Amino acid sequence: MWKLAPEALGDLDASLTRALTYANGAPVYALSPAERGAVHAVYRLYEATLGQSHPDLRPGVLDAARPALHTAYNEVQIGGRLVDLRLRLLASADACPYCGFGEPRDLDHYLPRGVYGELAIYPHNLIPSCSPCNNAKRAVAPGDAAAPGFIHPYFQALPDQDFLTATASFADGALQVHYQVDPVGLAPPLAAKLQYQVDRLKLNERYRQRINTYLSEQRVAILGMARLGEAAVRDFLLASAGSLAQDRGRNDWRVALLRALAADADFTRRPDLYLGPVRQLGA
Ligand SMILES: [Zn+2]
Repeated sequence: MWKLAPEALGDLDASLTRALTYANGAPVYALSPAERGAVHAVYRLYEATLGQSHPDLRPGVLDAARPALHTAYNEVQIGGRLVDLRLRLLASADACPYCGFGEPRDLDHYLPRGVYGELAIYPHNLIPSCSPCNNAKRAVAPGDAAAPGFIHPYFQALPDQDFLTATASFADGALQVHYQVDPVGLAPPLAAKLQYQVDRLKLNERYRQRINTYLSEQRVAILGMARLGEAAVRDFLLASAGSLAQDRGRNDWRVALLRALAADADFTRRPDLYLGPVRQLGA
């Protein structure tokens, strides 16, 4: 969750040509040498600014070419001439980096294509994401006056600390979990972005169902530990959180959940009240 290793960029010039040339060899749009150079300059600036909004990412020299560059993204769709790029990017993520659980089926334009048409097929601007996250993010871009934007899954440096926190509470035997970003130790703009992302993607709502499924998978192991006592339950939850953190990152939603449950004495004392007792076969 949050981070993805960026894929190799490949031959950007060849991709540009392929996107702007019909299969029969006719040009969709013939880029002049100056325009082609400007697109590459935009790509370099994107790397230099780590994907953040910048006016020079839409230079005037590309005004004529921008609509064709914008539409070139159609070639990254199924059946398009750049479908191999789509497949390569989608295969690079085993879960959506925005929510941490969704199947990546879409490519989100980190900087929106509607504004930055020249980045429509640039691989590092294409984030493999699940459809609900892609739809919820829409045209959000960093630097918007109204919102802090999302972190860039390829480029954002994140501090090595637990910033995604969860609190568990129990009402009428039902588990309620609330996620939020702990801003302590984070630069305020980063904390604002992370919290904005949690809110914008409605992760608290969307995790609810996931939590039930995940805990039902852990139920037998947790209840097994409960027979050894409260401390065993807590140690097991923390050990599971540590192991998951190794695999999925320390700010994965499941890691935060397990830490929250470990810290909750109501849960560690009687997990069966929330998970249901183990039924014996044939009972
Ligand atoms: Zn997602």
